[in-house]
Amino acid sequence: MVEYLLKELKKMQIELSYDKAQLLLRFMQLVLTENEKYNLTAIKEPKEFMIKHFIDSLSLLPSLDQKKPSKLADVGSGAGFPGIPLAVANEKNHYTLIEATKKKTDFLTMATEELALSNVKIIQGRAEELGREEAHREGYDIVVARAVAPLPILLELCAPLLAVGGTLLAMKGNVIEEASTAMNLLGLKTEKNYAFSLPEAQGERRILVLRKERHTPSKYPRSYGQMKKKPL
Ligand code: SAH
Repeated sequence: MVEYLLKELKKMQIELSYDKAQLLLRFMQLVLTENEKYNLTAIKEPKEFMIKHFIDSLSLLPSLDQKKPSKLADVGSGAGFPGIPLAVANEKNHYTLIEATKKKTDFLTMATEELALSNVKIIQGRAEELGREEAHREGYDIVVARAVAPLPILLELCAPLLAVGGTLLAMKGNVIEEASTAMNLLGLKTEKNYAFSLPEAQGERRILVLRKERHTPSKYPRSYGQMKKKPL
């Protein structure tokens, strides 16, 4: 198992130590054994889990390779993706996992204690509310999100949390919703947009790398109801 994960990561030019890969497998066990209680993932087969959760999450690593330690937020982290694999692989950053559902944050709190991840903080809350709080607004160097909302909504949830000059990494499938209006209004600019294939033909993925160039106007984020009714 560990060998398989390391081999597939190597093909993507991602190096991970044996110990860290073992820690990830321990995390997989936790997710799978607690799945019934917390309703965490539909993916139960270990190999598929490694590909769709670990390898997919770790595909962000090359984009995180910054010189100074960063404050990173994972918005809508669910069972901890991509936040937990990134926190295991790259310890020098600090990770805040934001998740609205209490059941999931209960699991994340338990799992981070169990794995002794001292660089991870779990917050139960909604991104659009935290984005209006002084302690979080423009408080992160990097914001990541996978499978949370259509792009214009995702950008409105994430941009307020991001410091000017910071980077938003949006993990999408191969369909990317039009969001140029949202980007202009929120002060974001595309830096990179690249696709890759998961191993074993498990699907195509796209990563959108956006840079925040200006402060987000204070009227954003709006309430979730408004975002859904009138996406930017
Ligand atoms: N990122 C994880 C989970 C995706 S499911 C993964 O890729 O596996 C989307 C998650 O985002 C759900 O757990 C949901 O509760 C959470 N979520 C949706 N909208 C949110 C919001 N506005 N603020 C915080 N969490 C949110």
